[in-house]
Amino acid sequence: MARTIDLHVHSTASDGILSPADVVAQAAAHGVWLLAIADHDTTDGIREARAAAAAAEITLIPGVELSEGAEEHEIHVLGYFIDLDHQPFQAVLRTLRGARDLRNERIVARLRELGAPIDLERVKEIAGAGSVGRPHLAQALIEAGHCASMGEAFGRYLARGKPGYVGRERLGPAEAAQAIRQAGGIPVLAHPGKLGQRRRIEAIVDTGMEGVEAFHSDHVEKDVELILDIAKARNLLVTGGTDSHGPHPERPIEIGSLDIPDWVGEQFLSRAPLGWAESR
Ligand SMILES: [Zn+2]
Ligand SMILES: [Zn+2]
Repeated sequence: MARTIDLHVHSTASDGILSPADVVAQAAAHGVWLLAIADHDTTDGIREARAAAAAAEITLIPGVELSEGAEEHEIHVLGYFIDLDHQPFQAVLRTLRGARDLRNERIVARLRELGAPIDLERVKEIAGAGSVGRPHLAQALIEAGHCASMGEAFGRYLARGKPGYVGRERLGPAEAAQAIRQAGGIPVLAHPGKLGQRRRIEAIVDTGMEGVEAFHSDHVEKDVELILDIAKARNLLVTGGTDSHGPHPERPIEIGSLDIPDWVGEQFLSRAPLGWAESR
């Protein structure tokens, strides 16, 4: 079996399908020797994964993924080698998670005022193990008979600028990068291929990123080339991962299924903060 790496995997600690221990088991089954669990706004899965990773002889890197910007133009920032005990960083993560819950509560309250009441508990059921988003709210609006379709739910209520739209407090990329650095981590711009033009990617990188995720399941070859080129010009760390959420119905991507060159893992580990291996 070919040995590979995967530096971007989600678990049930955020919106993945597999528990952290099952993530490690899948990684081991696919020949992954270097693994990072990078859940959205939480590092809670990492401790659970550690014992399993040690038993499977997988090097587990503590990671996290922060998102910012309006949903349509989201920028995601990965943080690697985070100190899990860094209390200010954990406080930032709690705020981000709280902001998401609060936003859903505010949308439901607003829909009630607009004469389209839905039950937040039902919305959570629809979302299942994942975090609640507007498509789940739209589904609840349809179920409750307020709208006939997803399009109508967004067009009348949930789209930006419509009466049921509530924005979310988030960090900007510079703040995200700074928070990660303060917790001893390395900030890396996630899947930049989704951000479009070279100049936009460079502008975001220059807010304080130390790396770029060149290899990602959604990147085509020209994305990889562009990002490697940017990384070379700026001496950035290059990372790669599947962004697997496990056997997710909409996006079933296997852990370790991406073809990432060997030098990526070697270079990545060589940039580990001093003393990192000892403190694990
Ligand atoms: Zn992402
Ligand atoms: Zn992700």
